[in-house]
Order: sequence, then structure tokens, then C-alpha cells
Amino acid sequence: MLSTMQDVPLTVTRILRHGMTIHGKAQVTTWTGESEPQRRSFAEIGGRATRLANALRDELGVMDDERVATLMWNNAEHVEAYFAVPSMGAILHTLNLRLPAEQLSWIVNHAADRVIIVNGTVLPLLAPLLDDLPTVEHIIVSGAGDRAVLDGAAAEVHDYEELLARHSAAFESFAWPELDERRAALMCYTSGTTGDPKGVVFSHRSIYLHSMNVNQTESMGLTDRDTTLVVVPQFHVNAWGLPHATFMTGINMLMPDRFLQPAPLAEMIERERPSHAAAVPTIWQGLLAEVTAHPRDLSSMTRVTIGGSACPPALMEAYDKLGVRLCHAWGMTETSPLGTTSNPPAGLTEEEEWPYRITQGRFPASVEPRLVGPGGDILPWDNESAGELEVRGPWVARAYYGGAGGEELVPEEKFSPDGWLRTGDVGVISPDGYLTLTDRAKDVIKSGGEWISSVELENAIMAHPEVAEAAVVAVPDDKWGERPLATVVLKEDASVDYAALKAFLVGKVAKWQVPERWVLVESVPKTSVGKFDKKGIRKQYANGELDVTRL
Ligand code: ADP
Repeated sequence: MLSTMQDVPLTVTRILRHGMTIHGKAQVTTWTGESEPQRRSFAEIGGRATRLANALRDELGVMDDERVATLMWNNAEHVEAYFAVPSMGAILHTLNLRLPAEQLSWIVNHAADRVIIVNGTVLPLLAPLLDDLPTVEHIIVSGAGDRAVLDGAAAEVHDYEELLARHSAAFESFAWPELDERRAALMCYTSGTTGDPKGVVFSHRSIYLHSMNVNQTESMGLTDRDTTLVVVPQFHVNAWGLPHATFMTGINMLMPDRFLQPAPLAEMIERERPSHAAAVPTIWQGLLAEVTAHPRDLSSMTRVTIGGSACPPALMEAYDKLGVRLCHAWGMTETSPLGTTSNPPAGLTEEEEWPYRITQGRFPASVEPRLVGPGGDILPWDNESAGELEVRGPWVARAYYGGAGGEELVPEEKFSPDGWLRTGDVGVISPDGYLTLTDRAKDVIKSGGEWISSVELENAIMAHPEVAEAAVVAVPDDKWGERPLATVVLKEDASVDYAALKAFLVGKVAKWQVPERWVLVESVPKTSVGKFDKKGIRKQYANGELDVTRL
């Protein structure tokens, strides 16, 4: 029997229309570094997104499926592009402005971006690349910056505000197409922590369903009473889905633009009083050191979504003391990104909640997990059997983008023949569906036939009161194959010797796992999205650049 229900396409256009009307008064506040931030309502953003769509179509001739890239911080203009480009039937491609130049050029060429919208402050990064970007015909500059660096560029240069001013803001002024919900809407490349960047292309449908999931109480669960501080960059998997999710529910957004250092973040929180925030652990480590040295009022921010890499339990405890509850989430570019969120089940005391809070979290109905053992067997959810996590669901990728002119979709070994995404993450699942990751398959330390979790060691070291950060990587060892190397950053004015750190680990991890190679560093190198750069540390070690003590 056929259902009697309507088949209405789930599109970004629908979210835009809804947000700018029903939640027209909600605000996007962008930090300017000056006395007053820029404030723009969802209604205004919707109008400006319409102007942008009109300008892109009428003046730049952007047609269906053409790629419009952004090289931008988190700000209102970036949100406008988030809605205008997919809604007009083109594809928004967010570029990571922290990538090395060659990788950035490679990605722009692979995607064949035709237009780049760029913040003026980022021009010095873009200008030197332009000779190598033959597909880029138009550059739209938003905000102040030295535009002279674009002199002589082959691409046509436009000013964002001047372009918008010439076009209508009335929603009806653009002929928004009736889009198939399975069409491409947005693309984002993985940050390449363990390998080359890969292009993931999200559909209107996957964005729509993912946004609904972000708004579930089970997930971030925000409402129109909330303001979320979106620290996670809009180029890092769509700021974890927040710009689209907020337009569905009228959640106010506070955007830090380029002011991502701990001091301005602390000031933003004190002055604008967001109730929620989202960012990777290194941001919260930095902010903690800042507010410990210079106390600030963080009392508005009761909830934080933290993910992208494992959150050390010691960090959660430190923020608990400040009245800020860190909620752990796991995901990846290939999962849009939200997979799990660690809200504990009902009916538990605070003490009983703790073991749940430190997991990566519970799976929502639409992300189906399975654990695969080394021999390919499917493992039970007993919180003990460790295997590679595979997932499938309506916002999980089935292939990578093959690049302009090539095969549209590349299947790759990352996708199993029966349609699951192999995440490359190793962990266990509890009978009630909570995921605990022990490591990335590429980071796990294989010592004498046994596996050591680098994350477990890092968490144990970071629980030491004198330690600010610690990253552990596998290094070659004649006797054991691989052994852990601990790179440690001490807190300001702290002094502790390696023997004391080793002694601290006894009883916390198995004795044979305790590292014998240690090095103190000023800071752990980070990737373009703020994760520990373990590939980089292994390379430094191999090149003899680290002053390692062995004991
Ligand atoms: P890249 O793979 O280049 O780092 P992604 O941002 O897509 O780019 O990273 C996804 C990966 O980040 C996951 O596969 C996982 O290894 C790691 N990750 C994300 N969230 C968490 C978390 N909460 N705990 C541990 N690891 C995480």
C-alpha cells in the first residue's frame, strides 16, 4: 500500500524561508574587536542571502551545481552564503583557511571552484595562490583588508556589500528552484589529520535531517532562548551543523570572526552571555588557562559541546568546577558531522552519570553503528570487545567526491561493499549504545603484539595537576615494534620531572604501557582544525628534532 503522505523535498531553501520569517527576530552577533559587535537579525540575513543569490545569478552568472567557495571566518556574511548558495541550486564549498597553501590550491582545483567569497583579512593568504587557480573567475571580498594584493589578478574582483546593494532583498525576487532533496548542497574536505584531504558532498536532505538531529534534546537540544557561541569554524564540517540548525529553531548565534584567542573569547562570553558553545578540546584548554590567570564571568555558558578529538576527563572536571558542563560528541566530516552525543541516561545520580559523560556518547536513531573485529567479524556491544567502528545513516557519506572532470564519486576502501562507512576509529560500545573510542586505527600503539591506546595515556597524563597538555604517539622500537612517546606541556610556572610523571601513571594504566620516552615541549603542534598533529610529532621524532629523555 502507498502511504497517504505528501512527499515534500527537504531543502536548505525551506530552512532559510522558515528561519527568516518565523524566527526573523533571532540574531547573529559577530565580534568585531571594537566596542560594539555587529548585530543582524535572521530576517536581515535572509534578505541579504536573497540579494547575494540575485547577484551571483545576474552579475556573475552562477548556475546549477557550480561551486561557490568561501574562505571566511565565522560571521554573518558567511551565514548568508550558507543559505544563498545551496538554495539557488549551486554548491557551497567551505575552504579551510588554516591549510598549507599547496593543499588549499589542490582542493580549490579539485572542486573546480568558480567563485571565492573571501574575508578581507584573509586576502594575504589567497592572493599568492591565484596564479595556480585557473577555475576561479570571480573573487568577492567581504570586509576590510588590503585589496591591493589582488592587483593584477586574472579573476574579476567584487566588493561584497556593493554587489548586494545592487540587488533586491525581497525573497520573491529570486526564482528559487524546486530542488531535488538528493542534490548536492555543500561540500567540505576532511582536514587530513591522518591522510590527504577527501571531498565530502552533503545533500539538501542530509543537511535537513542532520539539522533536526542537532536540535534534538538528545543531541545539542537548544531552543530560541539560547545563544550559541560558534567557535568551531564554519569550514570545519559546517560548524558542526549549527548555522542550519539555528535557523530551524531560532537559536541566536554569537560568531567570533577572527578573534579566536582565549582572551577575546573570554571577553565575548562575559559580555554577550551565550548559554552554549561548541569547539574542539584545545580551545577549552586555552580558555581554562586564560580564566585561571584572569578570572572572568562565564556563568551564562552552562553547556558546551566538545568533540573533534577526545575530551580529557580532567578538562571536564575543571569546567564542572566553573559551572560549565562539557558534553562530549563524536563525529567526522563523513558523518556531517554529528554521530554520538554523551547525554547520560535518565535516573542517575551525578556520580553515576560520570562514566557515561566521559564516553563519546550515545547513537541517535539515524546513525546505526557496528563494530568490526580484526578478522571481519561483527563484535557484540558488551563494552569490552574492541573493533573498528562502522556507521550508516541518512547523513553518512557513501563515497568521496571524485573531482571535477573525473568520476563523480569515488568508492574507496573507506566504504564497505555492503554500504557502511569505515570510520578508522577503534572502540567499544556498551549494551545501551554508548561509544567509547580507544583510538584512531592509525594512532594506536602496537607494542609487542598488544595495543596501547594513545588517548588513554594522554588522558592519564593530563590528569596530573602540573600538566597543561599531553600528546602520545607511537615511535619505532627495536624490541617491541612500537612504543609510546609522551610529549608534555607543563602549566605556567610548573616544574615536575619525568620520573614523577611516570610514577603518577602507575595504577592508572597497565605498568607495561607506561612510556619510557618523554619530551617537554612548549606546545603540542596542532592541525588546521586544532587537533593534536600526531603525524607531525612522529615526523619531528623521526628527524631527531625532539630532545627526548629515555628512562
Ligand atoms: P580528520 O579526519 O582530517 O581529522 P575530521 O574532522 O573529519 O577530519 O575528523 C574526524 C575524526 O576525529 C574522527 O574519525 C575521530 O578520530 C576524531 N574525533 C572526532 N570526535 C571525537 C571525539 N569526541 N573523541 C575522539 N575522537 C574524535
